Amino acid sequence: MLRLDGISRHFGGLPALDGVSFTVPRGRVTALIGPNGAGKSTLINCITGADQPTGGAVVFQGRDITGLPAHRISRLGIARTFQNLRVFPRLSVLDNVLCGLTGQGGQSMIMAMLRLPSLRHRERLLRLRAMAALDCYQLGDKATWPAAILPYGDRKRVELARATVSRPDLLLLDEPVAGLNADETAGVGEQLKRLRAGGHTILLIEHDMTLVMEIADQVVVLDSGRCIAVGTPAEVRRNPVVLEAYLGQ
Ligand code: ADP
Ligand code: MG
Repeated sequence: MLRLDGISRHFGGLPALDGVSFTVPRGRVTALIGPNGAGKSTLINCITGADQPTGGAVVFQGRDITGLPAHRISRLGIARTFQNLRVFPRLSVLDNVLCGLTGQGGQSMIMAMLRLPSLRHRERLLRLRAMAALDCYQLGDKATWPAAILPYGDRKRVELARATVSRPDLLLLDEPVAGLNADETAGVGEQLKRLRAGGHTILLIEHDMTLVMEIADQVVVLDSGRCIAVGTPAEVRRNPVVLEAYLGQ
């Protein structure tokens, strides 16, 4: 699904990523772990076009997408969530999720507001899809609320609903359960399993090792911008190089 070939990203001469190479297999959950500052978020930014690698190549479904602008990459079927929440506080929960459908006709929302009849039908379909996505995250009854008044855990799930509503081929999740309580974490874990069962390919940045061990098929470990291990969760957990990277923090 995705191949990273020697990705580097330097900030003012300092390498945040230094020749990172691994593949993300189709239909599987790959967890990307590593200490704070390892380069995990920077890597997601380089895949999605939010940032540009200074070296290397990003190949998605056989196509070199390195350096393409973010909106084109998202149209190719890659969606993401952010480590620091990016919900639009003044938009309703439903409208936040509809933003995940821009590029699939979501722009027609504006046209629909202008009451062009041919587009109203399409708008209704998009709203139905967005409502279905909200229901998956138990947010259906809050669809009309402004996102700003939702508790943190709900806003985190709004982001997930927005990222998944377009049914992307590749889903990049930057710490989706960070700050959630045990019940909320379990709920998101169940949803991630359902997404995988539905054929989504997921690259998951996560510190919650219980969740990683439970749902990841493959684990990639970054440390100081380098990929230091790739393997099954069990292999990675007993890898001395990985233990050293975490204990040496
Ligand atoms: P992680 O997500 O693994 O915690 P990040 O990718 O956020 O790590 O950061 C990796 C390194 O790159 C850190 O040392 C961070 O300070 C640096 N970095 C990230 N973004 C920038 C930026 N825009 N400018 C300068 N340095 C950055
Ligand atoms: Mg990060």
